[in-house]
Amino acid sequence: MTLRHRTPTPSDVAAQVLADKGVGSRLPVSLEALVADEPVDLTYYDSARRTEGRIELVDGRAAIFVNTRGRGADHPRSRFTCAHEIGHFYQHRRLLRAKPFHDSHIDLESKAQTEREANEFASEVLLPSKILRERFNRMRYVDLDFIVGLADEANTSLQATAIRVVRRSQDRICVMLVDETSRVTWVVPSDDWRELRLPWSGFKGKAVPEQSVAARKPAGNYREERVDLGAWVPSQWDRDGSIFESARDTPFGRLIFLGFGDGDDD
Ligand SMILES: [Zn+2]
Repeated sequence: MTLRHRTPTPSDVAAQVLADKGVGSRLPVSLEALVADEPVDLTYYDSARRTEGRIELVDGRAAIFVNTRGRGADHPRSRFTCAHEIGHFYQHRRLLRAKPFHDSHIDLESKAQTEREANEFASEVLLPSKILRERFNRMRYVDLDFIVGLADEANTSLQATAIRVVRRSQDRICVMLVDETSRVTWVVPSDDWRELRLPWSGFKGKAVPEQSVAARKPAGNYREERVDLGAWVPSQWDRDGSIFESARDTPFGRLIFLGFGDGDDD
């Protein structure tokens, strides 16, 4: 891979690190292996304080501290924090002398460039594109069961896994998180969902549509159910098809997964 003509993206940097360290072809990815033989120390600690993680210089050497908050180093949240700090190490270590990174709350929607870069690096090392491509090639379509299985295998959170899969998938799918009042907290469509001009951004901040399975079954998990397109899509939309809907409870709310099927899909 030649990157001479453009600045490597955080995903490029992450893919290079995975390749250099010989990890990233099996799940879960070992985070310790990512920093093996590098001038950085990795320490886990357990505190009720808000700080999730930080990287700073200790006696001139880079040091990463990950707060497990009683959840253990292998908890998906601790792993994301750790991967995020490793992202700072590989991309921003020259900044450490002037500015250590103290992450009191890692915000996936952060607009700050260094935070975005650390998050993108973390997503790529925890769920490498190469593995995702292999998995996608092996299956007819992506569904919520696939995401749940992958999160379990990769030891990543269901939320982060769902977002990552939907963003990389070439299926017409969309995922959202709803709170206990059935209001949509965030929504992420795949490129193909967006390309078909299926609705998504308008869902944010509103209750799920009345005709949806999510509205009829406001609690608990449900497997894929087929609903009329009209349940989710305004009637002026000029195609036939249906929506396949499924849901899974998570500690942060309920994950709703939508797949679009053409008229003859089953
Ligand atoms: Zn950070």
